[in-house]
Amino acid sequence: MKRVPLAVLLILATLAVWYFTRNPPEPPPPVGTRVAFEPIPATLAEQFSGAKAYEHVKAIVAFGPRPPGSEGYEKSLVYAETVLAAHGWTTRRQSFTRGGALTFTNLLARHAQGEANWNRSTPVLIGGHLDSKAIQEFRFVGANDGGSSTGILLELARVLSGDPAAAAQVELVLFDGEEAFGPNITPEDGLYGSKYYAHAISKRATWPSLGIVIDLVGDSRHDFLYNPEAPPAFAAAAERAAADSGLKLRRAPGPILDDHVPLQNTGLPCLHLIGDFMNMPYWHQPGDTLEVIDPQALEQTGRTTLRFLSQVVPPG
Ligand SMILES: [Zn+2]
Repeated sequence: MKRVPLAVLLILATLAVWYFTRNPPEPPPPVGTRVAFEPIPATLAEQFSGAKAYEHVKAIVAFGPRPPGSEGYEKSLVYAETVLAAHGWTTRRQSFTRGGALTFTNLLARHAQGEANWNRSTPVLIGGHLDSKAIQEFRFVGANDGGSSTGILLELARVLSGDPAAAAQVELVLFDGEEAFGPNITPEDGLYGSKYYAHAISKRATWPSLGIVIDLVGDSRHDFLYNPEAPPAFAAAAERAAADSGLKLRRAPGPILDDHVPLQNTGLPCLHLIGDFMNMPYWHQPGDTLEVIDPQALEQTGRTTLRFLSQVVPPG
């Protein structure tokens, strides 16, 4: 039963190694340019509502498929902008083109900054992808794959807005173009938005201290994994935060190519949280619909994220 998923994992691990080899990390940012991070209050975690995050996933899925440049993607962007603005976040669309006509748009958000200085970073970046995979053969809405992380980011925006000091430390980013146009993410195909974003923050005057990237986190029937390349302090804090939140989290057996990789390649230490997608029979299949989403999984992931931020110490 595990043979096929393991084969897929091996291919992904090989691709990840290949990616690291072909794209060696950029030099780390100069000492002193990282914005210092102050742990947020642990009590914020209890305010994260899986039911509220679920309502956002439901709304996004109702817009239909949302591959880059689609009507569904634009409607999802407007929805996210509306929710973020309602909780005091200033948003900015970061658009760019690849391969001619196609335009990608990342959505960046900062709290309570009428004059958000986008040339300077916040201490923390929390990201997830908004796009759904473009599949011609059937209607693919990516409730878990893209929808779940978006729902969590929007509910995090609400919770954080209740503590302006905590919210001021965070930049929320919805990435476009995470999905490849070919069957799988490769070094050349996929992660378009996070690659562009990583390049853009490497030009800023100051850098975040840490990043968190979440993906496929809506299904509690599967284990959750974190990136084996996370710094030991991140791994320890993530495991504690997950245990305190009831989330079944373990270290992934090998590297996974996702939006955290371009960020890590710029020298930004990241925590990547992802459901064990290789064992999800509906991954990139018609079955990735609202029915697989469990509000409790969203709640546990959201609370794990906040508890992680209440206790993690970024590498000096
Ligand atoms: Zn996907």
